[in-house]
Amino acid sequence: MKEVPAIWTVRRPRTLAQVPESMSFHFLTGAEQCPRSTALRHGNYPDLWNKNGYPRKPHLAALSGQIVHLVVRKIALELASGGCASLQEAKAVQILKNLGGYTKLIVQSTDAVLNNLVGNPRMESVREHISSRLRARVAQIREQVQVFVARLRWQKKTIAVPLLDTPVMASSNVPGNTRKPLGFGTHFEVELRDEQLGWKGIADLLSISEDDCAITDFKTGERSERHEFQVRIYALLWARDNELNPSGRRATRLVLSYSQGEHDIACLDDVREENALAADLRTRTAAVRQALQSPEPKANVSEENCRTCEVRHLCNEYWGAIGPKPVDRPERGAPVRTAQLFSERRDQWLAKTVSNTASKQALFDDIEVILQQRRTDITWEAECWASTILQPGSRTLVRMPTIAASFAEQFQAGDRIRFTDALVAVPEQGGLPLVQAIASTELLLWNNAGSNSFST
Ligand code: SF4
Repeated sequence: MKEVPAIWTVRRPRTLAQVPESMSFHFLTGAEQCPRSTALRHGNYPDLWNKNGYPRKPHLAALSGQIVHLVVRKIALELASGGCASLQEAKAVQILKNLGGYTKLIVQSTDAVLNNLVGNPRMESVREHISSRLRARVAQIREQVQVFVARLRWQKKTIAVPLLDTPVMASSNVPGNTRKPLGFGTHFEVELRDEQLGWKGIADLLSISEDDCAITDFKTGERSERHEFQVRIYALLWARDNELNPSGRRATRLVLSYSQGEHDIACLDDVREENALAADLRTRTAAVRQALQSPEPKANVSEENCRTCEVRHLCNEYWGAIGPKPVDRPERGAPVRTAQLFSERRDQWLAKTVSNTASKQALFDDIEVILQQRRTDITWEAECWASTILQPGSRTLVRMPTIAASFAEQFQAGDRIRFTDALVAVPEQGGLPLVQAIASTELLLWNNAGSNSFST
């Protein structure tokens, strides 16, 4: 009989997340939003794989964004080294042709992004699904790439020329690479650092001329205030990067480039503004370091935080919040209340399904069940323990994903299983609801029911 693979079981990190030596925008804002999430995502799981952190969940939108970035970068570099100042120049068409055209570049970049996920155990069960969905997005990705590329303007000199006569040689995280002052020109994916502050970040595009210095970040998602904060941090890091920018030039233009249009962000105009932002980052960095020193970093349970949390299947506080309150712990089958926090979501769902009887009455939900009786190889009758839709304590049918069939025979009555993003269908004519795993559903066996502790 096949063992249940480690990735299908609830794990706690063997060691807790270490705060990186150099803080970054994504680490800071993630840890501020929920320290527990950062602790779980950046902890170590040597029995799952040999990389750091919990394996990332492959998201179509995020992967599409990576492909867009790769293609834009490739085209931009080729056009720049071909001496084009913009896509409008005649020779740009020939350069694009030589590259094989947009579609070929997108297919190549899609392969590169998928190859990058080889070895990610969270990818194994969805590889085909993700791969075919990504390939079906070529037209959409092409459209985004064309929009971004059409907006690009290159400075005449694109090869880095030191701004100072004496080049600064410095270590870099790329072996064999050196960090030197950036010259006039257009530079892509530049790692900026302020060693004193202990921060770093990667700016998508840095365009330097005699009079101007612009930082542009490409965004494939919706506009957000977070992005403004991010690009202002890049402006600070650029101004204080003694290696790339020893003369301390300030960015004169900050741009967020979305598919829908470009947005100019207010620059840091003087030292006073820079110092204020640096002080803010220092305070916030210290708070995050302290929060992550706790053996049980705080779990900020909220619908907004948890809905998109990649590690919510590991977070006992989250499941506690959508499960019955201890005082409400029901006799089997008795009605109970879910936690107040999520009851609104449940009420909305109920209102919707009641008012629309023609609907299939199906919705995605996260559900924890206790298996009771096997019906078929992959179908069980179970007791619902936590859900935002089904009453905890009520009975339901659960259908495991086909991919789990090889080890689902290991499951026994009494096993607790967590499903995230499962499809829940409630029959209109009565009968048991059906919890069904689909391609995006993750299923985890959790038999450590007595322990609600974060640490191992
Ligand atoms: S599920 Fe919610 S509370 Fe738990 S780690 Fe994720 S964001 Fe934090």
